[in-house]
Amino acid sequence: MLYIYLPLVLLLSLLITYYFLVTYIYIPIILLIIIGFIYYFFIWSKTQIFGYFPASIKTNRKIIALTFDDGPNPPYTEELLTILKRHGVKASFFLPAKNIEKFPELTRKIIAEGHIIGNHSYSHKFINNFKSLCFELEITKAQNIIKKVIGRRPALYRSPWLFKQPWLLKNLKNNGLTPVSGFFSSNWEIWKAPAELIARNAAKVVAPGRIIIFHDGADTRGGVRKGSVEAIDILIPQLKKQGYEFLTVDKLLGLPAYQTT
Ligand SMILES: [Zn+2]
Repeated sequence: MLYIYLPLVLLLSLLITYYFLVTYIYIPIILLIIIGFIYYFFIWSKTQIFGYFPASIKTNRKIIALTFDDGPNPPYTEELLTILKRHGVKASFFLPAKNIEKFPELTRKIIAEGHIIGNHSYSHKFINNFKSLCFELEITKAQNIIKKVIGRRPALYRSPWLFKQPWLLKNLKNNGLTPVSGFFSSNWEIWKAPAELIARNAAKVVAPGRIIIFHDGADTRGGVRKGSVEAIDILIPQLKKQGYEFLTVDKLLGLPAYQTT
């Protein structure tokens, strides 16, 4: 008897699946369109629709800015500083203020070695980018913490996930901050890929005038960044051979790194 029912059950399941796919296919399609819309307008690194959000400058000169997000994160940030010093390269660090509270000494070391730091929110929480009530915490409080630790308030801000929406950009302006975007060095960086792969991808992303994004931490959770740090040691000599020079992001954009008050 089972042999008779089995094809019938299979056929019935197929019919039910077909019915649901045809009837409700618009649900995943609408969801995909909404996700695509949010990504394109609010997150894509090159979206300028809501205001100035530079990822590069127009130039034929072989100049780029290396930027590092989500630190300080020992021991990877220290290792990165040693590598940058050995190659004589100055970089820009966008730090969540929650990490700065944890590692004020390391934050001051970044400055002491000639790099610049920018505001990268307080908590790095994605959802807080939507809530104007959180801007006081994410932007203003972060500015005050940085001022307490390094004596100056940054003039540059990079939002977590490169998120931008008109209210966020307006609040940055009110806080005397310019938002900074960039090009992700490697899609594999998030998966803690080996250094060779990250360096190979980053070399393809590099072009005159671009701001390149690496990570020496992960949000405010720290984590292993061996691949990213070692990729820098591989990448810098390659790019130097091609004639590239490395500027901090303020110099590349021709903007101040810190506020005067
Ligand atoms: Zn980040």
